[in-house]
Amino acid sequence: MAFDSLTEKLQNVFRNLRSKGRLTEDDVKTALREVKMALLEADVNFKVVKSFIKNVQERAVGQDVMNGLNPGQMVIKIVNEELVALMGSETTEIRLEPGKATTVIMMAGLQGAGKTTTTAKLAGKFKLKGKKPLLVACDVYRPAAIQQLQINGEKQGVDVFTMGDKHKPANIAKAALEHAAKNGNNIVILDTAGRLHIDEGMMEELREIKEAVTVHQTILVVDAMTGQDAVNVAKEFNDKIGIDGVIVTKLDGDTRGGAALSIKAVTGCPILYAGMGEKLSDLEQFYPDRMASRILG
Ligand code: GDP
Repeated sequence: MAFDSLTEKLQNVFRNLRSKGRLTEDDVKTALREVKMALLEADVNFKVVKSFIKNVQERAVGQDVMNGLNPGQMVIKIVNEELVALMGSETTEIRLEPGKATTVIMMAGLQGAGKTTTTAKLAGKFKLKGKKPLLVACDVYRPAAIQQLQINGEKQGVDVFTMGDKHKPANIAKAALEHAAKNGNNIVILDTAGRLHIDEGMMEELREIKEAVTVHQTILVVDAMTGQDAVNVAKEFNDKIGIDGVIVTKLDGDTRGGAALSIKAVTGCPILYAGMGEKLSDLEQFYPDRMASRILG
């Protein structure tokens, strides 16, 4: 289950806090040291943890908490609020072009992160909102990826555009936009090719697509189970091609939560959705407050 191990550790810290009637400054410090350990073990970025603990500490050793009726609860409330702030406070929607204009979304990410699956999941969300998405197979390196997109698109009941594996992704994207215009698709989602690691060829290909067509939203898909690697990948993609938002996949199997907790703080890019399973319906909008509640258990 998502966040299991982090939740268990935080609950232990909070149980101790609650059992105390009055809190001394030392009690708070000890508790925060334990929260810090729990976050580091959850693979949250070190700098993020440091500033998080500093914020909580400043608020918690203030008069309110020490003199409050229920100091333990107060500390827990502050930790909760700071966790929400860490994940960006507000829910961020994917920005669609106004009116009848077509929105072009480019999906990026490393191989295996869950990009193709997430592309189809996202199409289902747009369809539910009354949009007519077109999925575009720009991953020309893995014929299986093209087939996977076709199968998933069919399951979702949305249009899929493919040109096989003999064309450049930028040219496929261009042709797809012409197809979308004729076919009345108001959202075009480009499923691009990943690599096992960040490499210049992949970045160049994404840049070429951006030069060939107007991309309105670039969305990065990262695997939550890879923890800080996912955060580093997000930073690298943002620096190299610029991303508008992140979708964190496989949160269902991520017991630690380090990626979900660090991405916004490290990259400045919001998490838009969370993948919660392999089924095409397993995609949840990302609500920082609900995530924080889930983490605290
Ligand atoms: P791509 O190479 O980035 O296009 O990755 P795929 O879309 O092919 O996904 C790789 C694997 O991850 C597949 O087995 C997916 O079913 C699985 N997957 C994708 N998203 C999730 C998720 O949110 N949770 C779980 N448990 N598995 C996922």
